[in-house]
Amino acid sequence: MTPARRARTVAGMNRIHPWIDGRVVESTSGRTAPVYTPALGEQSGEVDLASVDEVDAAVASAKVAAVEWRATSLSKRAEIMFRMRELVDANRKEIATMLTAEHGKVLSDAMGGVARGLENIEFACGVPHLLKGGFSEQAASGVDVYSIRQPLGVVAGITPFNFPAMVPMWMFANALACGNAFVLKPSERDPSASLFMAELLAQAGLPAGCFNVVQGDKVAVDRLLEHPDIAAVSFVGSTPIAKYIYETGTSRGKRVQALGGAKNHMLVLADADLDMAADAAIGAAYGSAGERCMAISVVLAADAIADELVDKIAERIPQVKVGPGNEPDSEMGPLITAEAQERVEGYIAGAADAGATVVVDGRRDGGQGFFVDPTLIDHVEPGMACYDDEIFGPVLSVKRVRGYEDGVDTINANPYANGTAIFTRNGGAAREFQFDIQVGMVGINVPIPVPVSYYSFGGWKASLFGDTHMYGPEGINFYTRGKVVTSRWPDPATSTIDLGFPETR
Ligand code: NAD
Repeated sequence: MTPARRARTVAGMNRIHPWIDGRVVESTSGRTAPVYTPALGEQSGEVDLASVDEVDAAVASAKVAAVEWRATSLSKRAEIMFRMRELVDANRKEIATMLTAEHGKVLSDAMGGVARGLENIEFACGVPHLLKGGFSEQAASGVDVYSIRQPLGVVAGITPFNFPAMVPMWMFANALACGNAFVLKPSERDPSASLFMAELLAQAGLPAGCFNVVQGDKVAVDRLLEHPDIAAVSFVGSTPIAKYIYETGTSRGKRVQALGGAKNHMLVLADADLDMAADAAIGAAYGSAGERCMAISVVLAADAIADELVDKIAERIPQVKVGPGNEPDSEMGPLITAEAQERVEGYIAGAADAGATVVVDGRRDGGQGFFVDPTLIDHVEPGMACYDDEIFGPVLSVKRVRGYEDGVDTINANPYANGTAIFTRNGGAAREFQFDIQVGMVGINVPIPVPVSYYSFGGWKASLFGDTHMYGPEGINFYTRGKVVTSRWPDPATSTIDLGFPETR
């Protein structure tokens, strides 16, 4: 069935606008994109797609606002972050409901994403402490040296569809607290949460222009990448676009952190608690319908326990309650679009042809919404599309490995390196894994090791372009640049002319 036939349109649709200079504005671009209710497979709204002029208006507003904002005291900026923290907390359910409607994820999962985003605002409340510099008294006779960190100016964030509230919060909380103005280009597939957060920031007392939302597509992204007044770009999305953003942004002199896609492996050693490993695999593979960059998409099962583990995962799959995200019993919702559904179904169809064993086939025969049920594929090997590609759906592959070394070699050979996990009762093996593995975020008996907000989030290799991970201390570094001041207040009576190079001894 073609995507056009699966997605229906209804009358009385919601129109989602940009937020520029402290208010909602009507776009004049004449271009829009559809927004769906994935559980119904119906179009629920349309979002404006910004023109170059509209992006320029947002950046111009941010440029003006940034001047006063960077001069605003640290305690005032922290106060606004505290107020934003209270507002997001009070509106958790409202934000989560928007995510469920437009993304499709179940309400409990959406609430979890909001909670993890909120932690980043809480971290940013500590900005006076985070921006403390260093001071060295008497670096030379009568000379003091100190370091300070200053904001970059206007910075941009470009975000993916799968965490429409959390990922923007990863970025704007620290960027604003550090004294930058921010232009957000959210995913055009679920744009409402960003607009709502703009309203909350205004209620929290953030001056107009400090936070702008340009709804849009490649036109808006490309303008942000080339705009001379954008100092830095944070990006989260798929690997090909992350690479493009990094290469284009840095070639124009911008600081760029671009987080890409993933293929996260969970290595299960023969000594692991297999019930615990099977429970963890179910949650990490099928939560949010697998549309998480930290989802486990491959279980590497040690040969000795592989059959038993596959059986345990397979027998749990029927217990996963799949349904519309707003129904209280649902544990897993639909995919974001009909295109995503077809792409995921294509990988399942191709797996058997490639020689893998489809143990549980989640493809549906028609019906409402963009649903694919939990799918389990065994005997998967590198070279098969279902192993090599990021599927980004509720499909868990199992590859059998001889043991620890084979598992580590497999993970380290993969081009992606976002997250990984080991399940074992052997502390020595876990310690070795942490040391050996070439991946940015590692779980030890923890399947989705998303770092807390006071660490930083990011993968290695094809999962990250740029040097800086997102949020936490690295986020503060990303949104500021260092300055070192060397200072001398001599007694005027001691002043002499000296043409020599300054020495410290
Ligand atoms: P995507 O790359 O398609 O889109 C991300 C953003 O880029 C969107 O705002 C989109 O409008 C924009 N964009 C898309 N195509 C573009 C183009 N050709 N030129 C310029 N801009 C473009 O990603 P998505 O489908 O929204 O999100 C899913 C992907 O994001 C997955 O690959 C997932 O692994 C990844 N992701 C990674 C992380 C991480 O932290 N590493 C977190 C969440 C999602």
